[in-house]
Amino acid sequence: MTKTDMAKLHFGDTPRQNPCAQCGTPIPKPDWIEPGEGRVSYLWTCHACNYRFEAVAIFDHDIIAHPPLAA
Ligand SMILES: [Zn+2]
Repeated sequence: MTKTDMAKLHFGDTPRQNPCAQCGTPIPKPDWIEPGEGRVSYLWTCHACNYRFEAVAIFDHDIIAHPPLAA
């Protein structure tokens, strides 16, 4: 499993002013939004340093539907 930035959001919310993962410059809005099952992927492009990164928002109902397995 790859490590990604995760944030809890409500459906319909679009994150804004997300700081660049490399230089910290706030990015006004995501370049690309890709809805998935119980999650939305946001692709951010920093115009200050041209760094691109993805942030994934996981929604609560997905956690309820698929609880993590306890060891
Ligand atoms: Zn940057």
